[in-house]
Amino acid sequence: MSERQHEKMIIIGSGPAAWTAAVYAARAQLEPLVYEGEGSRTMIPGGQLMFTTEVENYPGFPEGVNGINMMAAFKEQAVRFDTRVVTEDIVEVDFSVRPLRLISSRGTELEADTVIIATGANARWIGLPNEERLAQSGGGVSACAVCDGALPHFRDQVVAVVGGGDSAMEDAIYMAKFAREVVVIHRRDELRASKIMQDRAMANDKIRFQWNSVVTDVRGGDVITGLELRDTVTGEESELEVGGLFVAIGHTPNTDFLGGRVALKPNGYIETPTAWRTATSVPGVFAAGDAMDDFYKQAVTAAGTGCMAALDAERWLAHGGVEALEGEKVTAESE
Ligand code: NAP
Repeated sequence: MSERQHEKMIIIGSGPAAWTAAVYAARAQLEPLVYEGEGSRTMIPGGQLMFTTEVENYPGFPEGVNGINMMAAFKEQAVRFDTRVVTEDIVEVDFSVRPLRLISSRGTELEADTVIIATGANARWIGLPNEERLAQSGGGVSACAVCDGALPHFRDQVVAVVGGGDSAMEDAIYMAKFAREVVVIHRRDELRASKIMQDRAMANDKIRFQWNSVVTDVRGGDVITGLELRDTVTGEESELEVGGLFVAIGHTPNTDFLGGRVALKPNGYIETPTAWRTATSVPGVFAAGDAMDDFYKQAVTAAGTGCMAALDAERWLAHGGVEALEGEKVTAESE
C-alpha cells in the first residue's frame, strides 16, 4: 500500500488563479488541497497582488481594493467551502506516473488524480552583481516599492525606478510620496504602460523620465549611492546619484520546480496547447494564471483561468480521468 497522501486535486499557488480554482473545485466537491507556498523575498503567499497598493481594475470594486485585503478575501472564500491549505512549496513533481506525484518543501510525499498549477510569476532583476548584493543586504535596492518604499531610508532621497510598464509607473507614483525626486529609467523613449498610468506618472511633479537609458552598474558599499547608466542610442555613459533603486522590469513565471515534466513555451510559461483550454502537455494537469499567461497577466484574467482550470479538471475527472486515458490506450493498442 502506498504511503503517499492521496488527493483528488492539488492546487499549487495562492494568487487569484489558485483561489478561484479552489472555490470552483471545492463547490464541485473535489476537496482541493492548496499548496500556497512558503514565501521568499520576492514572493509571498497571495502572489503579486500582495505587492500592490490599490487594485482599481478588478470589476466589482468601484472604489478600488487593497491587493492584500483582496487576496485575504479570495482565500477566505475558498476556505469557506472547506478548501484545505498548506503553507509549503511543491518542490518536485513526477507526472510520468499515475496518480501524479508531488513532493512538498518539508518532504511530504503526495499523490493526486489531478493538479492545477497556478504558481504565478516572480519579479525579474537586471542581473548586475551589485544589484543582487544590495538587494540581498537591504542596501536600498528592491523589486517591490510597495513592500520596501516606505522605509525611512528612502525619505527625501532621489530614487530610481527602472522599467516602462505599469509596475514601473505604479512604483514611481508610490515612491513620489516619500522621495524628493523619482527618476524613471527606461530603455526606450516610449512607455509600455497603460495610458492612464502614464498620464498619472507624467502629471506628477516629482517624477522625471530618463529615456533610452539602461543601468550598467549599481554603486555603493553598504548602501546604494548611485547608478552607472548607458544611453541606448548614443552609447554615452553617465552617472546618477540615487539613494534607492526599484527594479520593475516584469516577471518570470514560477515554473522551474516542474523540472521539465510539463511542456513550457520558450519563454518559460506553461504551454496550454488548445486555445481557450487550460490542459497542459500532461493529461490531468492544468495551468492557470501568470504561470501560463504571457499576454494578459491581469488579476481578473488569472481568476478567469483559475475558474477554467477547475472546470476543465472537473470534466476530466468526470470523463474517467486516467482510467479513460488507459481505455483509449487499450482501444488504440487493440486496433
Ligand atoms: P511589463 O508590462 O512586461 O513591463 C516591463 C517593462 O520593463 C517594459 O517597459 C520593458 O521594456 C522593461 N524591461 C524588461 N526587461 C528589461 C531589462 N532587462 N532592462 C530594462 N528594462 C527592461 O511588466 P509590468 O510592468 O510588471 O506589468 C506586467 C503586467 O501587469 C502588465 O500586463 C500590466 O498591465 C499589469 N500591471 C497592471 C497594474 C495596474 O493596472 N495598476 C500594475 C502593475 C502591473 P520594453 O517596454 O522596452 O519592453
